[in-house]
Amino acid sequence: MHSRFSDGTLSPAELVALAAERGLHALSITDHDTIAGLEEAREACRGAGILFIPGVELSVGYGNGEIHILGYGIDTRSKVLRDTLDRLAAEREERMVKMVKRLRSSGIPAVFEDVRALAGGNILSRLHLATYLAENEFAASRDDAFLKFIGNGRPAFVRRRLLTLKDSIDLIVGTGGFPVLAHPALTRRDDLIEYLVRLGIRGIEVYYPKHSPGNTAKYEKICRKYGLIATGGSDFHGNSKPETPLGAALTPPDQLQRILKLIQL
Ligand code: AMP
Ligand code: MN
Repeated sequence: MHSRFSDGTLSPAELVALAAERGLHALSITDHDTIAGLEEAREACRGAGILFIPGVELSVGYGNGEIHILGYGIDTRSKVLRDTLDRLAAEREERMVKMVKRLRSSGIPAVFEDVRALAGGNILSRLHLATYLAENEFAASRDDAFLKFIGNGRPAFVRRRLLTLKDSIDLIVGTGGFPVLAHPALTRRDDLIEYLVRLGIRGIEVYYPKHSPGNTAKYEKICRKYGLIATGGSDFHGNSKPETPLGAALTPPDQLQRILKLIQL
């Protein structure tokens, strides 16, 4: 799930409280390109008696596309991990400045500092910009903002420089974690799975709210073929994406046991 530290709407402590209310035994927070919320979450889980698995969701470039790699069980003290994530955050700032510039040259008087303020010191994402555009009535809604301005290939879209598949997998493995291909039916790059396995991926996010039963069966089979762990994830974002509720698409207990053998908590 995602907290306010990336593009979710709840704080890590609020996420944990909600998870406790729903009766979850274990959880992971996997913010986009940041681990800033993990200590707060770890502390809250300790209080709530929930097993906490530190996580991160890295945006990774491949060709012209982007795929998401989850890293579970990473060492949050790792300097190389922290340095890499700091660099990605700085690049997101520069990219947002450019996107706002492009909006302004197409007649939308957006102000970078106002987008920054809306994000409240957290990792800047296009979701923040979309919210800003909708709130200031520069767009009819967030979806409209993506459609008209900031979606892939739209006039104010600026591509980010992304980690490579190899670098992201090496980074996760190198910091004690295990890499998982996120929401494969959304990514639709099954052709990459064999390559990902060779690079060291250890799991696929088989259980996912938007996966059809057919998707789930297909990815379970692929996991069996390559000996991969089948993980589950709600991809909960709070109010910013209400379609994926917290606690949807759980990791089966036998798969959780496999995860716990791989990582040191
Ligand atoms: P970024 O990492 O800054 O490129 O922003 C990615 C965020 O924007 C994620 O939360 C995506 O789910 C969201 N997003 C990307 N494209 C769209 C779109 N066409 N409609 C709605 N949300 C989108
Ligand atoms: Mn994702």
